[in-house]
Amino acid sequence: MSYDFDLFVIGAGSGGVRAARFAASFGARVAVAESRYLGGTCVNVGCVPKKLMVYAAHFQDDFKLSRSFGWDVEAKGFDWATLITNKNTEIERLNGIYEKLLVSSGVNLLNGHAKLVDAHTVDVDGKHYTAEHILVAVGGWPQVPDIPGREHVTDSNQVFFLKEQPKRVLVVGGGYIAVEFASVFHGLGSETQLAYRGDLFLRGFDQDVREHLHQELLRKDMTLRFNCDVKCIDKQKDDSLLITFKDGQSTEVDCIFYATGRRPMLDNLGLENVDIKLKDDGSIAVDELYQTTESSILAIGDVTGRVQLTPVALAEGMAVARRLFRPEEYRPVDYNLIPTAVFSLPNIATVGLSEEQARADGFAIEVFKSSFRPMKLSLSAQQERIFMKLIVDQATDRVLGCHMVGPDAGELMQGIAVALKAGATKQVFDDTIGIHPTAAEEFVTMRTPSA
Ligand code: FAD
Ligand code: NDP
Repeated sequence: MSYDFDLFVIGAGSGGVRAARFAASFGARVAVAESRYLGGTCVNVGCVPKKLMVYAAHFQDDFKLSRSFGWDVEAKGFDWATLITNKNTEIERLNGIYEKLLVSSGVNLLNGHAKLVDAHTVDVDGKHYTAEHILVAVGGWPQVPDIPGREHVTDSNQVFFLKEQPKRVLVVGGGYIAVEFASVFHGLGSETQLAYRGDLFLRGFDQDVREHLHQELLRKDMTLRFNCDVKCIDKQKDDSLLITFKDGQSTEVDCIFYATGRRPMLDNLGLENVDIKLKDDGSIAVDELYQTTESSILAIGDVTGRVQLTPVALAEGMAVARRLFRPEEYRPVDYNLIPTAVFSLPNIATVGLSEEQARADGFAIEVFKSSFRPMKLSLSAQQERIFMKLIVDQATDRVLGCHMVGPDAGELMQGIAVALKAGATKQVFDDTIGIHPTAAEEFVTMRTPSA
């Protein structure tokens, strides 16, 4: 049977664009349908605008610090509208680049909502297209629990477009987005509180890392409410929001920002027309080749509910394009040792196992830790500390995990991730000459185990 396309991609986000572009460059006839914005979550309401806002928020510390180096600088104020306008201009530029990339690789770009009609047919706004393979790369969507007053909540799709900077904000959640945006709002001068339902935010990260960030945020005078759940939200006459917590306490804010996870974006996708099995969490089940239970339909990225990071979606998109259209170059994605950063202020970055995970996995480990005040602060009264930690397997001397809290932690951890992928031992770290004077050199000079 002949199809309109070899590959039809639903969703032009991180994974979909990568798969479509490379499949087309390998000679396949490819279409991609996008209902909202080219580049998907990462470019429009995720990594990119978030990082721009983190940069903006960091200036407050920089202005303060510069005075200890002799600069006569006073920040006269911060203009939210300028940041949002400039950010929007940059995102539009990136949308244009994505369009050019797709079109110049020969991909047929269809603007509209795509719906599965059968195992080989997709409907885009009433028009049907057939394809030998269909790739579902529809990403995720913010998930907000059903509480009274939910309609007053701002989610991560909306936060990037707020007309005004909230003077007082409550961030709810304890994951990546919550701690990043608590840092953004606080850095930009909003009176910021963070409420998390558990004992300590960033569940799953190394305990020392979580505690270090906790102390640093307290040092910055952020209000942190742990073991705290919102009961209801009431809008008051002056448009402020009265938040009542389950323990009976309350607070008044101008914005309540929920970052309580994301769900797979399966709305009106036509799943009822095909035989695609979902996992218990509602994400699409795939095998190691990203094939769903409907053999002609594949799925990658956030919608598969695995590692929700852009570089992972990119790698999966690439793997699918190669396997289908350049099989001789196919390499499975290696999910071991995926480095990650949380762009809180200060940043967190990590690769490999946490101390808790290493012990739970049965490793006998040595742990090396260091906490120090960076040289950059030495002329000032600022007390922020950098934290670094290495987890080492006693049996093989291999470094199993590396963690950092401090400025540019993500920039630094990318290089260390390469070393860990190459199987670096602690001896290799010890034999590596430092770059002086840097904070990073501490990673090659930690000599005495702390446990
Ligand atoms: P997406 O990028 O979400 O793309 C899916 C696309 O499909 C969207 O454009 C959507 O409009 C489209 N679509 C959905 N349904 C349909 C349909 N039926 N028809 C047509 N089109 C459809 N990751 C990092 O690595 N680093 C970060 O710093 C980072 N920061 C983040 C910050 C925030 C606030 C958020 C929310 C996420 C962040 N992420 C970050 C995660 C990252 O954005 C995602 O992991 C990544 O975008 C997933 O890519 P994807 O291709 O699976 O889906
Ligand atoms: P996460 O899954 O990271 O965190 C969700 C948080 O919300 C958790 O603290 C969770 O608590 C809490 N939560 C969940 N449900 C409820 C509820 N009903 N009531 C109260 N709290 C609740 O999700 P995010 O939304 O922060 O981010 C989604 C994903 O996007 C991340 O996992 C990450 O993969 C990706 N991302 C990556 C970034 C980066 O690379 N820098 C930045 C931003 C996002 P508990 O821990 O108790 O379950």
